[in-house]
Amino acid sequence: MNFTDLNLIEPIAKAIQEQGYTNPTPIQERSIPEILDGRDFLGCAQTGTGKTAAFSIPILQNLSKNKTPNRHIKALILTPTRELAIQIEQNINDYGKYLPLKQLVIFGGVKQGNQEAALKKGVDILVATPGRLLDFIAQGIISLKNIEIFVLDEADRMLDMGFVHDVKRVIKLLPQKRQTLFFSATMPAEIQKLANSILNNPVKVEVTPVSSTAETIQQSVYFVEKENKLNLLTHILKNDISDSVLVFARTKHGADKIARKLQSDGVSTEAIHGNKSQNARQNALTNFKSGRTRVLVATDIAARGIDIDELKFVINFELSDVSETYVHRIGRTGRAGAEGNSISFVDGLDLLNLKNTEKLIGMKIPVIKNHPFHTDDLVAQKRDSNNKPFNAGSERPKPSGNNSSRPQKNKKKPTSAVGYKKPNNKSFTRKK
Ligand code: AMP
Repeated sequence: MNFTDLNLIEPIAKAIQEQGYTNPTPIQERSIPEILDGRDFLGCAQTGTGKTAAFSIPILQNLSKNKTPNRHIKALILTPTRELAIQIEQNINDYGKYLPLKQLVIFGGVKQGNQEAALKKGVDILVATPGRLLDFIAQGIISLKNIEIFVLDEADRMLDMGFVHDVKRVIKLLPQKRQTLFFSATMPAEIQKLANSILNNPVKVEVTPVSSTAETIQQSVYFVEKENKLNLLTHILKNDISDSVLVFARTKHGADKIARKLQSDGVSTEAIHGNKSQNARQNALTNFKSGRTRVLVATDIAARGIDIDELKFVINFELSDVSETYVHRIGRTGRAGAEGNSISFVDGLDLLNLKNTEKLIGMKIPVIKNHPFHTDDLVAQKRDSNNKPFNAGSERPKPSGNNSSRPQKNKKKPTSAVGYKKPNNKSFTRKK
């Protein structure tokens, strides 16, 4: 299918063409006609599937039918993180650049003055995080009584981040008569219940279930002792990869430590996490996107939904205890069909998580041995909440399953020393 088959109005078709999109992604193919038709929509889709355009494009088209524009908020998009909110607003700005509609993003962590002034000038489409939205509503600065379209984005993440009560408070303030679009990467029971309670006979579309990793992503694992991880990172960045890299760290402290080490090794690096101010996070992101900073180290929440064009490498400095997080993390690369690479550093504390992750994605991730820090002697250990071995000091537990012998058993040979396919994309740079 081509975008020209979707009956989009000229200003939107032109803007999409300028973005370089020719074919709608599977979720867009399904969502655009149905949302244009006024149907409620339930999309089970993670970031990287093109879900932002899947709801933004038909919202823009539906709102632009209104010939007598008034500056009431007519579409509300609620999303869990500031970064994601900013990203969505930028996308709407891109797709709607030839339309007279106005959009705005509001989020907490910054002074409200500028956002308030912009709201007072009038807004058609508002992208918001729950806390700041409720603040403005409480102050009488925002009213939701004219909302025609409500989007709940990343509903499962709202639950994870403890925002579900805020979301429910917002929903209570919406007009009964409205169109509702609901997106979630996973559908735990509580999210399913919420969806059932706010959607009216929705069209349901599920794309790329969370357990599937994009085929375009070349995944690899490096077995390394915990104390060698920082040196391995520097080694890879200096010898194997010359591209930009997004590094995931489990903790804020860990992210800062990695950033400091890389900076001292002469690699331009910044860290983003919840302890950084919104401005610092935004600046770091801008520097990374523009290539001024080569490495961005992020915690999961700070990185959620971040959309970085042409990102080819993701490195998991540690694996998360939540296996789905692996899929979200590596989904930052290999987006919309582009080629991507993910590298996971695995020490004894990560072994169990590796096993669970491989179970979730249904494949063994090839192990790369061709580096100075490789070890075949990892011993599975549990991690406590401080990222330290559980019961440190006592006798180490026995390796679970065949983990310690796994490198030998892995028959699938990587295609190169760092485990990614030979690039066919010119912008890809890899040191020999
Ligand atoms: P999302 O899932 O909304 O985070 O989008 C993932 C990435 O895909 C973003 O970089 C979008 O700009 C890009 N994208 C969205 N729709 C298309 C499309 N139809 N063709 C190519 N790229 C797209």
